[in-house]
Amino acid sequence: MVSRRAHVETNPAARRLFLRGLGGALAAAVVAPGRLLAGPREERLLSFVHTHTHERLTVPYFADGAYLPEELARLDTFLRDHRTGDEHPIDRALFDILNDLRLATGTRSPFQVISGYRSPRTNSMLREGSRGVAQGSLHLQGRAIDVRLDDVGSAALRDAAVELRRGGVGYYRGPDFVHVDTGRVRRW
Ligand SMILES: [Zn+2]
Repeated sequence: MVSRRAHVETNPAARRLFLRGLGGALAAAVVAPGRLLAGPREERLLSFVHTHTHERLTVPYFADGAYLPEELARLDTFLRDHRTGDEHPIDRALFDILNDLRLATGTRSPFQVISGYRSPRTNSMLREGSRGVAQGSLHLQGRAIDVRLDDVGSAALRDAAVELRRGGVGYYRGPDFVHVDTGRVRRW
């Protein structure tokens, strides 16, 4: 927590994005140094619809300055490998990236999930069918998700994710989704 906050503090791009999200003079008045896009005590809420299971989930997963274990567990289940049913803990920092993307883009839509956690078995299977699937994919560690939004184009979502500078961002134009992960900052 401390290191991530320190990171954003020194990240002018994140600050700019925050300012743009709130808009103009109002933002200048409320922005204090050292804040994530979401304030440290602000509720963090995510809404999803899964493109494969068709399940929907809306959860506040952080409130009163703390993560909510039961809600995180529901998110882990929701983002399970839908092919095998295997669950894996999902990196909380990934949820924070999504929550900040929600704030930065101003979306009113749920995130459409194309892929969350992937078991080793599923990843090998996918790799046989596509050169775009990485062997050491962060999906295998619960540190990556592929998403799109109804009311924000995927190119704009990609741009917002790149500006956060909090991990990897991949843009897949054909299938129309954006991959975000909590690995090192990079883009493709
Ligand atoms: Zn991905």
